[in-house]
Amino acid sequence: MKYYLLPEKGNFYKANLHLHTNLSDGALSPEEVKAKYKSNGYSILAYTDHEVIIPHHDLNDEDFLTITSYELALEEDIEYTFSSVKATHLNFYAKDKDNIIPPFFDEDKISEKISGTRPYITDGMRARKYKFEYSPECINEVIAKANEEGFLVSYNHPVWNLHNYEDYKDYKGLWGVECYNHECAITGLVDSMTPIDDLLHRGEKVFTLATDDSHREDSCCGGYVMIKAEELEYGAVMKALERGDFYASTGPEIKVLTLDDCCLHIECSDAAEIIVNTDKRIAYHEIAPEGGTINSKDFYINYWVNENKRRPEKDRPNAYFRVTVIDKSGKRAWTNAYFYENFEF
Ligand SMILES: [Zn+2]
Ligand SMILES: [Zn+2]
Repeated sequence: MKYYLLPEKGNFYKANLHLHTNLSDGALSPEEVKAKYKSNGYSILAYTDHEVIIPHHDLNDEDFLTITSYELALEEDIEYTFSSVKATHLNFYAKDKDNIIPPFFDEDKISEKISGTRPYITDGMRARKYKFEYSPECINEVIAKANEEGFLVSYNHPVWNLHNYEDYKDYKGLWGVECYNHECAITGLVDSMTPIDDLLHRGEKVFTLATDDSHREDSCCGGYVMIKAEELEYGAVMKALERGDFYASTGPEIKVLTLDDCCLHIECSDAAEIIVNTDKRIAYHEIAPEGGTINSKDFYINYWVNENKRRPEKDRPNAYFRVTVIDKSGKRAWTNAYFYENFEF
């Protein structure tokens, strides 16, 4: 049976799911952000200004869609010194475009730096005041409540927050995790697939995100997701995000990704390397011939199915594979992880 790991039908839409404007601590206005991204081929932006949901549907046009969203910083309640305050940053993406009541809101967190958000605060938001202690249990309560209220939750820039395994290993219910955050990367703190693999190993079926977290013009247009959806319409795009019908990238394009009786087929833009990783580290690695490129490849991932004379991957919960495409300048595209349990071989 042939599976389309990226949907057969629909169109790819380029999206940045993490950015800030001058309504919080960014430099560009919402309109300037739209102009910058539209001129770079983007169709979808999530305006994730800090702490307050600010809808931007007025910016939508037939080629451009905004996602109702915001970024919440959960921090240790101790006196702020840059290196000592533990913090977890989560983005919330509303499945319903008119859902502008954040699950959590604390007016005390609206500092001078993000005071442009103040005009958008409503009494409905004020009613969402919460008491928070910095612990995985409390963070999980936040994620669970957001899920209940119809938000997809992403875990942002673990590396910038200096997180390690102990910090995130117990997180539950996340929809996505950033493997690449452009603003963090250009300031020297480069995220990776490690937290995603760690959470996948623990049975959390998280998706892989590349974003900009752009606060300034020079941190725009670095990390993005390509969403394959039926149309550029809010509900269709959110369903595609919820299903994982997208890949993350900093440059390479993945055109086709199918699985047909253990043959994993990929078609992509000019690649120098394609790597298939699994949860057991077994990797297939295809390197372009010198001076050449790879544009398609079949990986027969039945190797470790048949060689083992059994199908351990099918029997073992949470067994997965994922693909990375690297171009000659080192830019990467990452697919989501796909779980063997979802396929018949
Ligand atoms: Zn953040
Ligand atoms: Zn941010």
